Amino acid sequence: MTPFNAPVDDILFTLEHVAGASRLPGWDGDLAREIVAQFGRLAAAEIAPADEAGDLEGCRLENGRVVMPAGLRAAYGSFVAQGWHALALPEESGGQGMPAALAGAVTEIFAAASHALQMVVGLVPGAARTIARFGTEAQRALWLPRLASGEWLATMALTEPGAGSDLSGVRTQAVLRDGHWQIDGEKIFISGGDQDLTPRILHLVLARSGPAQSGVKGLSLFLVPSHGEDGQRLPVTVTRIEEKMGLHGSPTCQMLFDAAPAQLLGREGDGLREMFTMMNHARLDVSLQGVGHAARAAAIARSYAATRRQGRSGLALDAHADVRRMLDEAETIALGLRALVQMALVEMDLDESAPLLDFLTPVCKFAGTEGGVAAADLAIQVLGGYGYLREYRVEQILRDARITPIYEGANGIHAMTLAGRLLRHAEGAAAQAFADWLAPVPATQAAWEAARHRMLATEDPGAGATAFMRLTVAAASSRVWACLAAAAQHAPDPDRLHHLAARAAAHLPAQIRHHAEMLEIELG
Ligand SMILES: Cc1cc2nc3c(=O)[nH]c(=O)nc-3n(C[C@H](O)[C@H](O)[C@H](O)COP(=O)(O)OP(=O)(O)OC[C@H]3O[C@@H](n4cnc5c(N)ncnc54)[C@H](O)[C@@H]3O)c2cc1C
Repeated sequence: MTPFNAPVDDILFTLEHVAGASRLPGWDGDLAREIVAQFGRLAAAEIAPADEAGDLEGCRLENGRVVMPAGLRAAYGSFVAQGWHALALPEESGGQGMPAALAGAVTEIFAAASHALQMVVGLVPGAARTIARFGTEAQRALWLPRLASGEWLATMALTEPGAGSDLSGVRTQAVLRDGHWQIDGEKIFISGGDQDLTPRILHLVLARSGPAQSGVKGLSLFLVPSHGEDGQRLPVTVTRIEEKMGLHGSPTCQMLFDAAPAQLLGREGDGLREMFTMMNHARLDVSLQGVGHAARAAAIARSYAATRRQGRSGLALDAHADVRRMLDEAETIALGLRALVQMALVEMDLDESAPLLDFLTPVCKFAGTEGGVAAADLAIQVLGGYGYLREYRVEQILRDARITPIYEGANGIHAMTLAGRLLRHAEGAAAQAFADWLAPVPATQAAWEAARHRMLATEDPGAGATAFMRLTVAAASSRVWACLAAAAQHAPDPDRLHHLAARAAAHLPAQIRHHAEMLEIELG
């Protein structure tokens, strides 16, 4: 196994010199370096080693309670003891109020070291944002400090057997009994629906408070605690945990809510809109999972290819041009994606409702998750037969990463969001913000504008949505790589970055042309 090493210098380089984090009010570069490096040390010493054991050990359901792998439990203990759980939470509720861009750097390292643990722990900032935005004063005063304490984790409970991508089919019912809300129903696939990392869990549950035929308009968002104020367990139970391809250290739970006491969060009937506050945050987190997978896979492949000597020639694997191609490709994915997601996070810190952020969020989700899977696959190929074995754990990266294009909105749905709402809504304000953002790369901007007009001229853009998304990802990459090239002298390895930037500059126009052709074919 290749020891985990957080790419601290690479992360700080793009954060400061490409994403422009120093534009953020109060940004302190030295503090950022200290934070990222310190988390890198925890990830290398405790989280990554526990992840390997956690993948083998898996989660168990014993007497109705979930038992997590022991090493991940211990790693969470250190995570909380060092205060990492409160990094992104608002200061007024006991958090440290760090910018999303800096919290994102920590998330990337966390997900690369243990996607399984990160996804159980990582919903707290999104839950806190949702409560801070829609909760009453009393709800904010009660729940935000609890989430900041590390004694409560949060879940996002949307999916049901008949309601995955299409949440209009949610049947879990919210009922007012004696003036108090209660939840009845079943949810499936809930990450961290139960765990033994924290004594308490706060579930954010999407449930139907209107009649069965009310579609998404009848959905409201509820806070459903696992325990009452008297410390007693409430009727929220896990009925089974799923056997999965990867993420064995993360419990994916089927849950039963049986007249579970609940508090309405925000307005009745506004549940889906409110849930999007949590989901938009979670979507950028999922892109960071992809960045983490890509960076880790590229690092393992690079170190293996430099040291593996072949037969009598004694040549290292990376003496082969095709191996170098794969290494370049995996690293280009990792560096480009990281810069793209960091740019979106800096936008989020500057203005959460910026049209550009609206546009970049699905692009990051799509690009980050496809990129993580692609880089893991390339790394397996570089390692040959050893890549297919457990020993170097690149096969685990692929198994863990494979869910990311599916959850937090399947990638096909994000492609439809781009092709539909974001091109057309509010006179295409989000799309125009993206077009303006492409101004530093005029040829790319022109090609993207042509594709945009082609999509707008089509009555039914569905068939072309993924081709258009891929073209958009390539256009965004073109903008990102122009920035990376311009900042190369600040990179940890400027020569390497110049090489990768030149490669990207040669490849991306061809990719854009290819996706434009595919778009024509798909639209017929
Ligand atoms: C490990 C894991 C963890 C999860 N964690 C959570 C969690 O914490 N909370 C939670 O609520 N859920 C969670 N989920 C559920 C996950 O979000 C759903 O699986 C996902 O939303 C897809 O729903 P589905 O599985 O019902 O697939 P379906 O809705 O049946 O979709 C199947 C496929 O059809 C395509 N598709 C469907 N609809 C469209 C459309 N409108 N446009 C284009 N293509 C479409 C997509 O390719 C999709 O992959 C988790 C799932 C897994 C496996």
